[in-house]
Amino acid sequence: MKAEKKTKIIKTIKVNVDKCHGCRACEVICSAFHSVPKYSSNNPARSRIRVIRDPLRDIYIPVYAGEYTAAECTGRDKYTIDGKEYDECAFCRASCSSRDIFKEPDSGLPLKCDMCESDPPLSEPMCVQWCLADALTYEEREEEVEEEEESREDMEIGLESMANKYGWQTIMDTVARMSKKG
Ligand code: SF4
Ligand code: SF4
Repeated sequence: MKAEKKTKIIKTIKVNVDKCHGCRACEVICSAFHSVPKYSSNNPARSRIRVIRDPLRDIYIPVYAGEYTAAECTGRDKYTIDGKEYDECAFCRASCSSRDIFKEPDSGLPLKCDMCESDPPLSEPMCVQWCLADALTYEEREEEVEEEEESREDMEIGLESMANKYGWQTIMDTVARMSKKG
């Protein structure tokens, strides 16, 4: 069956590294906005944006949490900026088993930037609103996508993440137990 095409709003945040001064307000507000209940706590370890900082060299690079990766990738890159070599995984956006960032610290579940989706919707994501240096700029554009693919991708990501934490057998046992109850 051919998937239906539909128009989707693609939301992006443009990062201007030259304007970032490393205040970390974006990390604070992101973690506070996503705490339960909202604004009940703030902990940058739970933030979906992290700022790679090297104050001595005046280098600050905000990195957003992207998709979850099930295993360590093989194509790691080393970056040298102003003479300082950065860790192979420093600027990667993935939440992956080999690193500490972009993981919920208590559960180990992956954290992904959701553009602060909420009801009612925000005019702009919280990190953009709180970045007084204008290093973060929110942008929207329209793109045609295939409806079927999009929902399959979301479900796969969620299941993959749970399988990595609990294992497939536990998930299947839980589903079997729940369906008996239902
Ligand atoms: S709030 Fe803006 S200036 Fe501050 S660390 Fe985040 S991106 Fe950089
Ligand atoms: S857009 Fe929202 S969820 Fe994404 S990093 Fe910014 S504050 Fe966090």
